Amino acid sequence: MSAGDAAVFRIGLGTDLHRLVEGRRLVLGGVTLPCSLGAESHSDGDALIHAVIDALLGAACLGDIGELFPNNDFRWKDADSRELLRQTAAKLNSAGWDIVNIDAVVSCEEPKILPYRDTIRASLAGVLNLSVDHVFVKGKTGEGMGDVGEGRAVSVIAVCLIRAR
Ligand code: MG
Repeated sequence: MSAGDAAVFRIGLGTDLHRLVEGRRLVLGGVTLPCSLGAESHSDGDALIHAVIDALLGAACLGDIGELFPNNDFRWKDADSRELLRQTAAKLNSAGWDIVNIDAVVSCEEPKILPYRDTIRASLAGVLNLSVDHVFVKGKTGEGMGDVGEGRAVSVIAVCLIRAR
């Protein structure tokens, strides 16, 4: 961009859904939460980070999480999703994009997200090198309906705004 050009912004949208099973941890935004069930996944099953990664990649037209970190690749077996997010942020950075903000909605029956919200925000902000007031996360339940409501799944929607440097 040259001086005088209007700033170029793009929005991105990402979603993720993981089945909840016994014998796994529930990790959201890099934070392990107390829950009797955890996310079934090839990686650590961090649905929040996976949704954020897809939002960022989509905004920058840089592909999607399945393409960059295939779940049949042994390198990502039980991977810490924060590392995948770091690599995604580096990819955007090399392509000339700065992340402006992230917002997300996590839907699950347990635990309540609110008591952990600020820890999760700080964790995501730390990985992305953002100020914590540029990252927000909200919790919802499934009101007893469907896979989320019946406690069988955790579902996330995330959006982001990025700006060309
Ligand atoms: Mg996922």
